[in-house]
Amino acid sequence: MGAKLLVVDDQMGVRRLLFEAFNEEGYTVELAASGQEAVDKVNEAMPDIILMDMKMPGMNGIEALHEIKKTNDSVLVIMMTAYGELEIVAEAMKLGIKEYVTKPFDINELRGLVRKTLNENLECWA
Ligand SMILES: [Mg+2]
Repeated sequence: MGAKLLVVDDQMGVRRLLFEAFNEEGYTVELAASGQEAVDKVNEAMPDIILMDMKMPGMNGIEALHEIKKTNDSVLVIMMTAYGELEIVAEAMKLGIKEYVTKPFDINELRGLVRKTLNENLECWA
């Protein structure tokens, strides 16, 4: 049984790409199209790891992360940022994100990063 991923991105193309890539690898993939939807879904879906977009209309990735951390402090998070958003990355690091990728990311690199993050942090996937 694979780990459960929650993909959060306002762009449908990104959600679709990540759904297909990780579903194919045997992960259970849940999708959220906004920060608010992510906050709502975390408690019901209980993902092992979240792939969180930074720039989204309404509640952005940092704000969503703040909310999620209030109820689920242990969930693993990989951020997806645009090039040059180093201040946002630093802020997200303070909130305990494990890794980040810069868009446009290489899907194989992201696959490897998810596997590595799970292996390092969840004993059952090691
Ligand atoms: Mg976005």
